[in-house]
Amino acid sequence: SKNTAAIFKVAVIGASGVGKTSLLQQFMTSEYMGGVEISFDDESERTVSVLLDGEDTTMTFNEIEPQAASVQNYKTTDIDAFIFIYSITDKKTIEFVEERLHDVQRYVSKPHAAIVVGNKSDLVRKRQVKEDDARQLCSELHAKYIEVSAALNHRVDELLVGIARQIRFNPQRA
Ligand code: GDP
Repeated sequence: SKNTAAIFKVAVIGASGVGKTSLLQQFMTSEYMGGVEISFDDESERTVSVLLDGEDTTMTFNEIEPQAASVQNYKTTDIDAFIFIYSITDKKTIEFVEERLHDVQRYVSKPHAAIVVGNKSDLVRKRQVKEDDARQLCSELHAKYIEVSAALNHRVDELLVGIARQIRFNPQRA
């Protein structure tokens, strides 16, 4: 198999309390990639490798604080994928994501993957955002969509592999 030297950069964006930290913690313990953690120096930055079709895809996840989630901060940086997280229990948090996604799609010229994550799918009775509405929004904004529960580790591996796949098979890349 090929020896991949590239480390892909993934920005994790979302309002406060949606589960960014919880999700990244689940990524670090995912069985899919064998729990490989390469960098320990910064708590907000975590590197994982995912084995996909016999090849490693190494990604560094960078959690972006809500107040720093301005397009000015990533317009000129080399980000390969944007992960937009909201909580299905809080309508305001998908509005936050919608604005940021809009900005990224409009102003970031480097080819990138965009994935919207509806977190807290376990909180069924507190749902404020319909899955169909979120899917519709994402298809209009050319983003992938997945619902997960970081708390129950539900569909978290699928998300991680999905990110790797989006980065690797981005037709605009390479
Ligand atoms: P962040 O501010 O985006 O980093 O959010 P955190 O990861 O700190 O999570 C905020 C709160 O939501 C914490 O109390 C988490 O335990 C809780 N939380 C995160 N993900 C889930 C989830 O999938 N389901 C439920 N029920 N709670 C969650």
